[in-house]
Amino acid sequence: RTVVGVLALQGDVSEHMRAFADALGGEGEVVEVRSPADLERCDACAIPGGESTTIARLIAENGLDDAFRVFEGGIFATCAGMVIVAVSINDTRFRPLGIVDIDVERNAFGRQRDSFEADLDVTGLDEPFHAVFIRAPLASAAGPGVEVLASLPSGIVAVRQGRHMALSFHPELSGDLRLHRMFLAGL
Ligand code: GLN
Repeated sequence: RTVVGVLALQGDVSEHMRAFADALGGEGEVVEVRSPADLERCDACAIPGGESTTIARLIAENGLDDAFRVFEGGIFATCAGMVIVAVSINDTRFRPLGIVDIDVERNAFGRQRDSFEADLDVTGLDEPFHAVFIRAPLASAAGPGVEVLASLPSGIVAVRQGRHMALSFHPELSGDLRLHRMFLAGL
């Protein structure tokens, strides 16, 4: 049985828990992660959207930064989570975890396109994915070990690196579990 954790410090935790519970369809368990001991039980962990500066501070306060760096399971990082797992970011207030080899720009779409939706062509999916972007980040560069799964004209919005995935948007809000399933299949 697969144990999927959802980092439950700040952000849209319950939506991720529901999406993974549906994607697992009884073949596993979804648990909240607030401590290194919680994370150790997991085969994978989602880092949800929210406020990346706040989530990063709470990760450090709970001793989870080192726990994530040595975690051998897959990480499903969405929106603020994508900022947190990056190697470099355009914000000096916190140091990202350096788990996924991408350079990430926070709030990359600016005011006019603060939030929007787009039908994305995603490598590995037959039909476009309807993606919800909310003050979303973008990856401006990806290292050689990173597979780019989807891009917009302004930059990279979905990547996979080994067992990990990082997405600029909120797949848990689309009622479409294909990206959750792709992630689970890669564990
Ligand atoms: N703009 C937020 C941040 O970088 C992320 C927004 C989100 O997760 N929806 O912290």
